[in-house]
Formats: sequence, C-alpha cells, structure tokens
Amino acid sequence: MTSLSEETRLLQPPCPQAAETGSRVLVKVRGIVQGVGFRPFIYQLAGRFGLNGWVRNQSDGVEIEVAGPAGSVRNFIGSISSEPPPLARIVKVETTELPYQDLEGFRIISSRALQSRSTLISPDVCTCRDCLRELFDSQDRRFRHPFINCTNCGPRYTIIKDIPYDRDKTTMAQFKMCAECRREYDDPLDRRFHAQPNGCRECGPQIWLEDAQRNIIASRDEALVKTAALLDSGSIISIKGLGGFHLAVKATDPAAVSRLRSRKIREEKPFAVMFPELEEIRRYCCLNSEEEDLLTSPARPIVVLARRPDGASPVIADSVAPKNRNLGVFLPYTPLHFLLFENAPYRALVMTSGNQSDEPIVMNNADARSRLNGIADYFLFHDREIYMRCDDSVTRVLGGYARPMRRARGYAPLPVFLRDPVPSVLGAGAELKNTVCLTRGREAFLSQHIGDLENLETLRSFEHSIAHLERILEIEPRLIVHDLHPDYLNTQWALKRQDLPKMAVQHHHAHIAAVMAERGLEGPVIGLALDGSGFGTDGTIWGGEILRVDNLGFERLGHFRQVLLPGGAKAIKEPWRTELSYLWSIGPDDVESRYAELLQGAGSGKRGAGDVKIILQMLSRRLNCPETSSCGRLFDAAAALCGIRLCVNYEGQAAIELEQAIEPDDGYYEGGLETSRDCILIDQFPIIEALIEDVRRGVPVGRIAARFHNGVIQILREAAAIAAERTGINRIALSGGVFQNAYLSERLERDLVKMGLEVYAHIEVPANDACISLGQAWIGAQKMLAEH
Ligand SMILES: [Zn+2]
Ligand SMILES: [Zn+2]
Repeated sequence: MTSLSEETRLLQPPCPQAAETGSRVLVKVRGIVQGVGFRPFIYQLAGRFGLNGWVRNQSDGVEIEVAGPAGSVRNFIGSISSEPPPLARIVKVETTELPYQDLEGFRIISSRALQSRSTLISPDVCTCRDCLRELFDSQDRRFRHPFINCTNCGPRYTIIKDIPYDRDKTTMAQFKMCAECRREYDDPLDRRFHAQPNGCRECGPQIWLEDAQRNIIASRDEALVKTAALLDSGSIISIKGLGGFHLAVKATDPAAVSRLRSRKIREEKPFAVMFPELEEIRRYCCLNSEEEDLLTSPARPIVVLARRPDGASPVIADSVAPKNRNLGVFLPYTPLHFLLFENAPYRALVMTSGNQSDEPIVMNNADARSRLNGIADYFLFHDREIYMRCDDSVTRVLGGYARPMRRARGYAPLPVFLRDPVPSVLGAGAELKNTVCLTRGREAFLSQHIGDLENLETLRSFEHSIAHLERILEIEPRLIVHDLHPDYLNTQWALKRQDLPKMAVQHHHAHIAAVMAERGLEGPVIGLALDGSGFGTDGTIWGGEILRVDNLGFERLGHFRQVLLPGGAKAIKEPWRTELSYLWSIGPDDVESRYAELLQGAGSGKRGAGDVKIILQMLSRRLNCPETSSCGRLFDAAAALCGIRLCVNYEGQAAIELEQAIEPDDGYYEGGLETSRDCILIDQFPIIEALIEDVRRGVPVGRIAARFHNGVIQILREAAAIAAERTGINRIALSGGVFQNAYLSERLERDLVKMGLEVYAHIEVPANDACISLGQAWIGAQKMLAEH
C-alpha cells in the first residue's frame, strides 16, 4: 500500500541522543506488528547489535526497551523500519530516552492481557518461500501438507473471530497442536512462534473429496491425486479455499468451460485463470514489470492483462473470456493450489467464485453441498472453517500504477491512511459493488468486497461484515452515512438503526470525496465523476458530473445533457432502449425506420431486441422514463448504435466491448458545450450524430469506437478547462466506473496533466462504486469536525 510506505518514510524515528557511556531507550512501534513474527525479529535484531532489554506486545503495538552502546542502539532503531519481517507494516516508531542503566540479557515478555483491539489486523497472505520449500521437501514433516504456514504467511483475516489475535479466537481453535507443533509455537526463535494457524499433517486441518451424492471418494494425499485427474478429464470441482469456495475447471477444455458457464448461469462475464507460474502466464499474456510485481506480491490478486495475439498452445478456451482481448490471471496462493499444479498435466485452471450468479461466495461446507449442487461434479473440502468471506482481489495496471478493481483478499482489512485524524463514522456504501467503511483516527478501514445488495444473502453478509469490523477494530461509530437513494437495502438498514445519527450523501459527491480521502487532499477540488447511475439531489439520475468539492460540501458545476431512460433500471440491462432514446432525442420523427436502417448498417443483420413501438410510446408520453446525465449510458448507446451489443449479461459489458473493439484512429467526433452562468452542459448529441453517420457510411466498427472515445475525451478535457478557469481550482479528482476504461483513463489523465492540472485518481481503492463507503465516511467525518 502506497500510503504505508510513505508513512514509514515520513515517520522515521528520531535518533536518540548519543550518550558517552551508553544509551537506554524505550521504543514503541505501531502498525501491523502482532502475529507477524515481530517479537522474534526484535529478539534477533537485539542479538545482532549486542543490546540488552526486552520486547512485548502492548495495547497499541509493540513495546521495546534496549540498552547498550549509543551507536548500536541507533542502528537497532533504524533497522526496525528498514528491515521489518515481510508481513509487518510499520506505521510509526516512537522513541523515549531513559536514564542509562545496564539491563541483563534480552527477553521476550509475554503480555497477552495487554493486547488490544487498536492494533491492525493482517490480511491473508500467500504461502512464503520457506513454507513452499518445506512443502515439496520429502524429508520435511509437512511434506505435501495442504495447510502449511508460518508467521510470514497463511490465513489471517478470514479465520479471526475476535481479538486479541490468539489461537482460541480463530477457527483453528478446534485443532489441538501436537507436541512438535507446540514446541515451534512456543519457541521465540522459531519461524512458527505464535503462528496461530500452525499445524501439521498430524494435528492440522485435512482435505477430502466428495462426489455430488455426498460420498467421500478420497481423502488426504489421495484426494489431491484424484482431484487433479478429475480436473484433467474436464470435471467441474468446487474447491474450498481461503475466503470461500472456487469452482475450478481446466481452462483449455472448451466443453468443460461451457458446461460451467451454463450451470452457473453466467453467460459471458470473464472467468479468471490460475497459472502455476509467471513463465506460463507469459506464454499467453503481455506482462510488464509492474504487472509481474503485482502478480507475485503477497496479496496475489487477479491481474487483468492484455492477451498475446500469438497465444500459446494449448489455447485457453474462447468461452473463458468471450470477445475479450484481456484475461484476468493469478498465481497459486495457498499450499493446496500449489499441490494441485504439482505434476498436473494441465497448466491453467479457471478458478471462479463458487456462488450462484448474484449471491455472495459460498464459504461453508454445508452451503457448498446445497448451493453449488448442480454446478460442481465434485467437492474438495477441508475442515478449517472460514469465518470471514473474502473474494479474490482484482487489479489492473494503468498509466504505470496498479488500480484496484475489486479490493478483498490480501488487502482487507488494511486501512487507507487519512491525512488527519477524524471521528469514528460508518459509511454504508453503494448498492452495487458494496463495501463498508469505518474510520478510527487516521485510519479508514474498508471492508472486503461484499457485492450487489440486491438479495438477502448479500444483505446478511453486509451486516455480518459491519458487526465483525466494529468488534475486531473496536470502533463505535458516532454517525452512519448512507446513500441519498431511499430504496437501497443499505439505506433502509441504516435508517432502521435507532441508536445513531444518520446522514445522506449524494453518490457522486462520495466518489470525489473518496479520491480526496485516499490522496490526502484538502478541498477544494474539481471532481469529474463518470459512472452508470447515482441518485441526484434533484431527483434525476446522475452519472456524468462535474463537481466542485471541498471539506464541507459540493456544488454541481456541470453535467452531460440529459436523456430519458425508457424503463429505468431495465435500460441498464438493455442498451438498445437507451439507443432508441438517443435517436428519439436527436429527432423524434422516423425513429423506427432509422433504427431499422442502423441494424442493417451494423452489418450483423441483427434483429431488434424488443418492441420499438412500445419504447417510442413510453418516450413520447414520458412513461417510466427517468431523466439521466449518465456517462455509462452514453457508452451503452454508442455500443448499441454500432451493433456491438443490444443487451448485456453483466454490468458494463457494452462499454467494455466497445473499448475492446477500438482500432487505432486519430479522428474524433466533436461534442458541444453550452455554458451558462450556473451550468457547464456537455452536449454529447453531436458525438452521437457523427457516430450514426459513420455507421451509415459503413465505416469499420473499430474506427468508430476509437473516434467515439476520442470525442468523449476531447469534450471532457474542454469542460474541465472551463471548470478550472471558472473556479480558479487546478486540482482535478477522477472517480467512477467509467475510469476503468483503460483507453479513456490513460488518455484523459495524460491530457489533463498536459493542460497544467494536478490530476488525482484512485490507486488504493477501486474507482467503481466500491469506493463510495470511503467517500461517505470521510464526508460524515468532515461534517462532524466542522460542527465541533
Ligand atoms: Zn510461511
Ligand atoms: Zn502438529
């Protein structure tokens, strides 16, 4: 996390004054310093510098006292920050000079009673090198043990029920350590000293394989061999992982992948693929050094990469990511994954979330048997309970930076560090791609990705996440911030909580505030919020907004021209409706024949997706046609007009396929700007008219897609320039799902910088609605600060 390393730089410990005879110093270290091998590290460090003293866990971190030659003490303190154990995250090192006095030896003092909830909790971390070496060492007692871990790796967040972080507060409580494991656990110099998930083949969790009729067909080593053979022959296997179940299938087997698609009722949304090693990924995808670093980082996220046009053989089945030039790939991150690839004939596995279409990822064995019944042919179970559900994280490198698209395993519950301390506030998040956020001092804790709050299962997961985070972080929020939309399940949940004051925040205001929070900006900024939809303060649906935002509120400076959305939310799933709305807005006559002509012009000879007459009646009578300034719907309309997509199977599909279709072209469709005293109105109609003209003339779709994107970038640039000039503000913050469009993001950011603006985009949290909870919490906190 970028802000953590900055923290470390900013907060280098002040060097204690050198004393002639010797120095004695009390050191307090804050951050993720418990449960990550920190005390053994300090013990060894003190030995290296020949210092005496002690170390213990304290209420808010680790406390150390050392005495010895002044120079050695200084070097010792410097090394704490410069070479901490891999999983430690140091936020602050404070030193207090004490009167010099000799101490005897160096001790690790046990002080569990003093552990408290104000420490940070580590996310789950991929298997470390040392554990991997042991895993494949036939002489090691954990040879092929699918749950090998140590203080430098393994499960954390997903197994912690409560804190202090100790074995009896985790889902490892039921496993009694054998004598040998116990010895490691108690030895301060062992890599497994106080490694809470510690265990071995004898005393740790076990795996077994069941068929769909609940018969156990193999266990332990045999279960691994059998699973690999079944995967190779095309079976769909549900595999219990770290934060939930995966559905796995051989990625090079088209029939098997198609079977998974139809059983999971997931028609076209891309699946992620796990490869055994980087070299294997390189055979299929283009890979730069930032992407390599991300793939091999301890968080092991899914990274979206460009596929190589000359992809290797055997080919990845087309149905893995239909019509997509990119592929989401990741590396094994648990010992079980590594074992599944050991000597396996396949070199690529689809590993997708184990759930039914829109529900949360399944996390317990009983649920898997019932809810994945009919999808999986076999189940590879284990008996270590998952307490906190956590999906795989998804990221992408844009403009040289990693940009998260889904922040979950490997990142949650690490905080985003705020510029200043704030009161404790709960942000209840957006309706889609929901996360929640709790603030504590300078820390803003975002939950893992929770999902779309459209069903009770997800709502339950939302409630569970809030209660859990409040408990383990010991945060009692003093305010709940929710979305302006009264019907969202989370808004209703917030309004039902009688115990706390509430505050409603507009969706796009929260988007821009999220950028301000994570980038440490104090207002005012110009905000460009571009996404699908959010409830506006005027009762219409916003989604292409230019705002002025400061610490106290926002002002709407401008927006895209509004169009009607026939059928409201239905139009999101059926872009042809928005297409008709644009055609009708540009000229209400002969819409039907112009639409028919476009369907021909698109070349595909596609039939219309629905009854055009009914939609036109709805438009002219304004029946169930909310107004919107949405940028996402503009992309939908463009994709439909080009014949790329009339109906979508997942959110954002039309825009994604329009971006994928781009062929290099420098041309652009010119948009208009109508500026009045109180509004910068972006007129996208001329862009759409020019696009229609090119479709009619039979210009190739790839070039139309490029010209459309270039036109939108051009008009946004001009609008931003006017906003900057009017307000005298030269900082611009970018947020919203549209910024996940790489073509648009990279070019617009570059152009805005060229214009002399300071550009701020998301780098720690997703630009999509997952960032809303952070923005909400930050706005609520600013309001509370202003009132007191
Ligand atoms: Zn390890
Ligand atoms: Zn053991």
